[in-house]
Amino acid sequence: MSRRSSRPPSDRALGLDRAITRRDFVHGVAAGGAALLGGAWPWSGARAEALPPGAQDLPGYYPPRLTGLRGSHAGAFEAAHALRDGTQMPPARDSAEDYDLVVVGGGISGLAAAHFYRERRPAARVLVLDNHDDFGGHAKRNEFELDGRLHLMNGGTLLIDSPRPYSAVPAGLLRALGIDADALAKSIQHPEFYQQAGLEAGVFFDREHFGADHLAVGYRSRPWKAFLAHAPLSAAAKRDLVRIEEGGVDPLPGLSSDDKKRRLMKISYRAYLAEVMRAHPAVVELYSGRTRGEWGVGGDAVSALDAWGIGLPGFEGLGLAPGSIDGMGFTPAGYADTGGSVRLHFPDGNATIARALVRRLVPAAVPGTTIEDLVTARVDYARLDRPGEPVRLRLSSTAIAVRHEGPADGAERAVVTYVRDGAAYTVRARDCVLACYNCIIPYLVPELPAPQKAALHELVKTPLVYTTVALRHWRAWQKLGVHQIYAPGGYHSFVGLNPTVDIGGYRSTRSPDEPILVRMMRTPCRPGLPEHEQNKAGRAELLATPFEVFEREIRAQLARLLGPGGFDPATDITAITVNRWPHGYAPENNSLFDPDVPEGERAHVRGRARFGRIAIANSDSGGGAYTDVAIEQAHRAVSELLGA
Ligand SMILES: Cc1cc2nc3c(=O)[nH]c(=O)nc-3n(C[C@H](O)[C@H](O)[C@H](O)COP(=O)(O)OP(=O)(O)OC[C@H]3O[C@@H](n4cnc5c(N)ncnc54)[C@H](O)[C@@H]3O)c2cc1C
Repeated sequence: MSRRSSRPPSDRALGLDRAITRRDFVHGVAAGGAALLGGAWPWSGARAEALPPGAQDLPGYYPPRLTGLRGSHAGAFEAAHALRDGTQMPPARDSAEDYDLVVVGGGISGLAAAHFYRERRPAARVLVLDNHDDFGGHAKRNEFELDGRLHLMNGGTLLIDSPRPYSAVPAGLLRALGIDADALAKSIQHPEFYQQAGLEAGVFFDREHFGADHLAVGYRSRPWKAFLAHAPLSAAAKRDLVRIEEGGVDPLPGLSSDDKKRRLMKISYRAYLAEVMRAHPAVVELYSGRTRGEWGVGGDAVSALDAWGIGLPGFEGLGLAPGSIDGMGFTPAGYADTGGSVRLHFPDGNATIARALVRRLVPAAVPGTTIEDLVTARVDYARLDRPGEPVRLRLSSTAIAVRHEGPADGAERAVVTYVRDGAAYTVRARDCVLACYNCIIPYLVPELPAPQKAALHELVKTPLVYTTVALRHWRAWQKLGVHQIYAPGGYHSFVGLNPTVDIGGYRSTRSPDEPILVRMMRTPCRPGLPEHEQNKAGRAELLATPFEVFEREIRAQLARLLGPGGFDPATDITAITVNRWPHGYAPENNSLFDPDVPEGERAHVRGRARFGRIAIANSDSGGGAYTDVAIEQAHRAVSELLGA
């Protein structure tokens, strides 16, 4: 493909003047957090005697259908940021509510904690608080009606997929929820559909990084010569690309497998490609972005050993033995050792697990009985927080303080203060599980021992963005012969058609003339810095990016990728949801930057110690950004409170 004009398309050509489905125009720090810095919390001062109804109690409340800026949406994070910044909070009113358990955080870990607690104490009364307007945390559902038909997408947590097989606790929970993961993995997913329709994986070489825009189709499905025929790479770079993919020569001869792994632990994937494999710079650039989906940063901040662990190219010639380094009890990302867990994608991702948990906890809110009927079930949010119900799920409620009545040792009650609609309330509970981002816990529980707070402060999460775009049809994709595109230099580095999944009454589209959802992934980071510095820089960028910037970038990128297939961003895009996750993946051990210490000495373990009536869950406390970890940590936290 020839070099295209680099003049940016006009707003009109991109369709920025078109009415699309998007509601949330308020964005980022400017909407709340920044306005509060140094000031007082803008509470109204008006106080109702009883707890006033929340938005979720009103008819028609249905957050899965909201579009625009979602994930960490406006209204979800301002109170937490004000707490961090030391802003004066509104005086709290005692709600007079008293529970057996209050859970802070309504993600999979918090919901699982509520479930495990009630499994042990079936009569327990439980309140779950979450700062978002929907439950599920990262396991978020995006829902659209396109041409009268339901279309679903995961707004965050994509699928059941872990570097290890699910252990007894998470596997048991799935079974208890009616999820037979092995059977469903075989029956509901149709990964072969696009392939059978003649669509392949593509790589987009952009002019900024490779000299010319070009979509190469048939990655790993066509012979390399055909795949690379028109790629804007020199002959030397093409040869290197094939060498990286096919391996053959051992770049570290004379070393044992364990010694090679020790070397790979301490060198980044990018440096390995450049310095050990001596790959052409264009090839280094191309492959370095491949770590972004798994870790949210490029190959400069991920070890070569971890890249090998998830099966990235470049290691064939090393002849590494599977498994851990002898004597270190260390397994890289795990897949290379165990093959990983079953891979199961529901149409809304792991939001199905969150919804199954909510159905178990508050049956009246979620109709139906099977996992098949759950996928299309409409949750009745007004039933989630009813007085008198044993389990209540309170949304848009940010915990700002958790303390004990009296000294932590021997206290009979914990008191949780939360902010909702600008007013603060306290609730009491026998036990409390903090299943929220662990990095906020030092602010919530200031009386924690200083070393524990320091450990919690180390738990920096990875920011990332999952964007969902509704298209009128997908003819351009069919014409170009692609169903997913890796775009190493793009604003979003991955773009793909919604996976084909049929379950219960839900059917994925089969005709390119029908509407479809597209998913796009962006990982804001600052290459060259240590991982957590990259995370912080990416988070700041994300919170300062308004929806209008995302929209322009989305339209321009899709036009560039798909324009040669006839895609018109002005007419083909019908809705956009940007799920931004400033606090995304839980931090995992990074052998490039973290000290080589045993698991028990790592920050997530030091940070999660039980404190009086307060136990700490969330995937953060397990040091792994996976659903099985979130569930295991919920179970551990509940066991700490109730005894093993
Ligand atoms: C985009 C994305 C994709 C992912 N994909 C996968 C995948 O495919 N497979 C997989 O296994 N894992 C995936 N993960 C990892 C995911 O984090 C875990 O699987 C799991 O969903 C985490 O659950 P959790 O309950 O531990 O945390 P969260 O889902 O983060 O839930 C914590 C909740 O607590 C809330 N909270 C925080 N502070 C407060 C407060 N002060 N008051 C009230 N509430 C508060 C948070 O806002 C959040 O809603 C993904 C993560 C992201 C971000």
